[in-house]
Amino acid sequence: QFASMRESTYGNHWNGGSLYNFTGLLGRGAFATVYRIQTKKEGDLYAAKELDKRRFIKNGVLDLKFDSELNIMKNLKHPNIVNYIDCHNYQHWIYILMEFVPYGELAQQLRNRGAIPEADVQQIAKQILHALDYLHRRNITHRDIKPDNILIASLNPLIVKLSDFGLSKCVTDQETFLKTFCGTLLYCAPEVYPDYGNYTQGSGPKRRRGLGEAASKPPPSPYDQSVDMWSFGAVIFHLLCGKPPVTGRGDDRGAQMLNNIMTKEVDFEPLRQEGISEAAVDFIARLLNRNPASRPKEAECLQHPWLRDVPDNCNYDDVEEPLADAENQLEDIDELSEDFVDDDMI
Ligand code: ATP
Repeated sequence: QFASMRESTYGNHWNGGSLYNFTGLLGRGAFATVYRIQTKKEGDLYAAKELDKRRFIKNGVLDLKFDSELNIMKNLKHPNIVNYIDCHNYQHWIYILMEFVPYGELAQQLRNRGAIPEADVQQIAKQILHALDYLHRRNITHRDIKPDNILIASLNPLIVKLSDFGLSKCVTDQETFLKTFCGTLLYCAPEVYPDYGNYTQGSGPKRRRGLGEAASKPPPSPYDQSVDMWSFGAVIFHLLCGKPPVTGRGDDRGAQMLNNIMTKEVDFEPLRQEGISEAAVDFIARLLNRNPASRPKEAECLQHPWLRDVPDNCNYDDVEEPLADAENQLEDIDELSEDFVDDDMI
């Protein structure tokens, strides 16, 4: 029934061929629609992310932004990262088949519950740190750590998985930094903002910017994996007290937020008002440090008094060490791009 509804609403989409049935809509993002699919034979569930190739044409050339997402995902295997299964091309569409993560986004939990109990947040923090450590050791920066990109795989024991590598990039050495502006304002590290130089030089903002204008300009200085550590700290803050560390109000919300993050120290009172432990406040304060170089790395975070005695809900014994040469993480990149372009292209 769902499949025929999908056919008539959207026209010529992939119907899953001989292997899969489309059994439900999981959600829509800025670039993709994600469906639940099921193998016809065993009835196993997967998620299929559908992307319209026509949205990636620039000046007549296919600009596959998601090419990087796929190439990153297909090489990752970690208990706290959504597992890539396969990719399928169909006419205008590309389908990224992934592990199905059944309990939705942490963002939805925040909307439903306001805040998450500290013991659960400790567990989430530990797992996201394991995922970030895995990524960063491979020179991969996620760049979009937010509650919408953390999916809940199991409730008891609590297990979460990081998803959505659409904005990730791979760097192969420490000198190569990421220069593309991205991420979500609420959780974005200050150095990612285009006008950061103006603010840090003490002159204050020369003028106020709207969110759209800010987001369309590249940042002036390079930034690296420590942007993920700020975002991680901002997410933990939000989960614990139900409010993000930086906010803005009204029509001018984007500009206000930008101004606040540049000029105001983060206020930790909302955490204390919620009765959150001082160890948690200290943990977050270290991450929300304006100086990227001073932010702690994952190993240090895992040894912090707030987390060091928290038991692991996942088994990390089978997690592989990164290859010595990080460039090998990008194997088959050309091959994969050709696959996309050849098959039934527009
Ligand atoms: P964005 O708008 O952040 O760029 P996107 O367009 O790439 O994202 P996603 O946010 O990745 O799309 O996915 C859209 C929705 O599908 C999400 O709300 C999420 O709940 C759901 N979803 C994504 N991947 C899975 C999965 N593996 N299992 C279950 N649900 C998923």
